[in-house]
Amino acid sequence: MCNKLIAYIFAPMQLLDGKATAAHIKEQIKKDTAEHIANGGKQPHLAAIIVGNNPASEAYVGSKIRTCEELGFGSTLLRFEESITEDELLAEIRTLNDNADVDGILVQLPLPKHISDDSVINTIDPGKDVDGFHPVSQGKMLLGQKSYLPATPYGMLLMLEHYKIDTTGMHCVVIGRSNIVGTPMTVLMSRNANPGNATVTICHSRTKNLKEICLQADIIVAAIGRPKFVTEDMVKDGAIILDVGINRIDDATRKSGTRLVGDVDFDNVKDKCNFITPVPGGVGLMTICGLMMNTLEAAKQHS
Ligand code: NAD
Repeated sequence: MCNKLIAYIFAPMQLLDGKATAAHIKEQIKKDTAEHIANGGKQPHLAAIIVGNNPASEAYVGSKIRTCEELGFGSTLLRFEESITEDELLAEIRTLNDNADVDGILVQLPLPKHISDDSVINTIDPGKDVDGFHPVSQGKMLLGQKSYLPATPYGMLLMLEHYKIDTTGMHCVVIGRSNIVGTPMTVLMSRNANPGNATVTICHSRTKNLKEICLQADIIVAAIGRPKFVTEDMVKDGAIILDVGINRIDDATRKSGTRLVGDVDFDNVKDKCNFITPVPGGVGLMTICGLMMNTLEAAKQHS
């Protein structure tokens, strides 16, 4: 067993607080932005596209636009009806690609079924791909070249860094193999850097013995999209848990009748962990930090 983990095992559980961490990182971005502008650089400008009126997407985009204001970025929000065709949407993205004032473009997913995510992502200028989803960004990341990192994995690295968690030599089990979270997280956690330098196992819907694999994990990254999927019996003492899942479940005690939970059964798992992110208030807030770090970097490249 890794020495660092032995030391961690006897420490009390510590919450990886997304709210406090994001506040700290946003303060730094705000300062860097003001300095960049004072030195003659251009004001970072994020353009966000939302298609249809999915309430969760509305909330995510709204919070990204508000964060731009908070940090001193410019922003543009383009809304389109669900009926927009793929060709029309791609034309809108090309217009943003050609707009020299726009540094970063994000298209909020999910998109309506008649529009291909891949076509949309591939149309964004890689120099403005602040969500880090474009094949050029992901390819560069895979090769260890400087690139816009996918915002959610980037946010998780910022969180680990903030709490000074040295992941060297740890066994990191990532559950979920999506292009935007699970797969890039495996690349980042195995690269020769800190956070990184971990031994990584990727698990997915066809994995056998998931519980046995998770029990070997020093770090579990849960990106599945199933409420409370990771249970107490899957987690060893002293583990570090990053819960990416955002799931809405019924809750009669709430005024709204629902509440958000992660992919981890937080209440029953937390006391076994040394570090764990809550949902809400964990990884989601860090994702916005990753996006804003990329947008500031894009503005610096475009200045
Ligand atoms: P996805 O929906 O594209 O894929 C889910 C993954 O889970 C798949 O790779 C699948 O193989 C795996 N999976 C499904 N059932 C499984 C099982 N029984 N055992 C093991 N693996 C299984 O995933 P996504 O887009 O990465 O989203 C995952 C979750 O994270 C969702 O709840 C989503 O809302 C949330 N999310 C949160 C943020 C954030 O900022 N916090 C960002 C993106 C996604």
